[in-house]
Amino acid sequence: MTTVAAYAAPAAKAPLERTTIERRPVGEFDVLIDIKFAGICHSDIHQAQEGWGEAIFPMVPGHEIAGIVSEVGPGVTKYKVGDRVGVGCFVDSCRECGNCKAGQEQYCVTGGVPTYNGIGKDGEPTYGGYSQNIVVDENYVLRIPDGLSLDVAAPLLCAGITLYSPLKRWNAGPGKKVAILGMGGLGHMGVKIAHALGAEVTVLSQSLRKQEDGLKLGADHYYATSDPKTFQELQGTFDLIVSTVSAPLDFNAYLTLLKTQGALVNVGAPEEPISLNLFSVIGGGKTLAGSMIGSIAETQEMLDFCAAHGIGSEIELIEASEVNTAYERVQSSDVRYRFVIDTATI
Ligand SMILES: [Zn+2]
Ligand SMILES: [Zn+2]
Repeated sequence: MTTVAAYAAPAAKAPLERTTIERRPVGEFDVLIDIKFAGICHSDIHQAQEGWGEAIFPMVPGHEIAGIVSEVGPGVTKYKVGDRVGVGCFVDSCRECGNCKAGQEQYCVTGGVPTYNGIGKDGEPTYGGYSQNIVVDENYVLRIPDGLSLDVAAPLLCAGITLYSPLKRWNAGPGKKVAILGMGGLGHMGVKIAHALGAEVTVLSQSLRKQEDGLKLGADHYYATSDPKTFQELQGTFDLIVSTVSAPLDFNAYLTLLKTQGALVNVGAPEEPISLNLFSVIGGGKTLAGSMIGSIAETQEMLDFCAAHGIGSEIELIEASEVNTAYERVQSSDVRYRFVIDTATI
């Protein structure tokens, strides 16, 4: 075991504070990663505050991790010391269920091993990226291509793949009209990736406050959803809408914006159940769907794609001591567009 500095929430809703944690010894197939940067995902806050149910404390959040390999186990073949690597939302899975065998580890029927707020295969709690290093099985480590700076690459490990996977699955590309609903940490990645895939991209945001950014990042159009005229004007327009919104939504209204057989895919999750008139999907043969991060192989594909297209996250780099203020600002949507912790400051 090695003792490592980290930032942890000691209990639900308690402010994060500097502490130390134990990391397991580097096993045969393990990679020790010196963490350089860790993104702050909104789900870090949900979990640290037990918004999604009972959680494990102390909690070291962080599943948008970028760093450098500093040690490898004797059985490791994919990575060597000095490699630039990342870790996303999970650090292991059962490897035996149908989904794991099909290369869809993100949907492991056992739930897999989350990067933090989970129990590892050694029976110990997992601790995430707000720390100075992490030990991960090589099969759950991603390679960050040379063209991508580690700081702007970190948020790709959750926010990037969360948008890339549904955009690919529902064929965002040339000739397709894609709307990104919400212009935050997730949404801004959706704009960049959908644009790079060749789709015609529209941002649907509550107001026009971030319009200039949206157009700069690759959107062709930008509409305020607070304006009822938006829904009249855009009726029947989109092949695909990806919703990143976790506030309550009028799904019936958004479904009218789809073309026949279009799809509305949710990656944001409102806490309350939704109300849906099923004629909203029956008429027009529409799809209302969901998507959760991506597999290891697809996450690697996404990183390679982003490097080839010069895509990183738009970030505000902070020191670890600013994490509690950053949480407050994320909750009031006051970040453009992702906070990233410089873990050298822990
Ligand atoms: Zn996340
Ligand atoms: Zn599995």
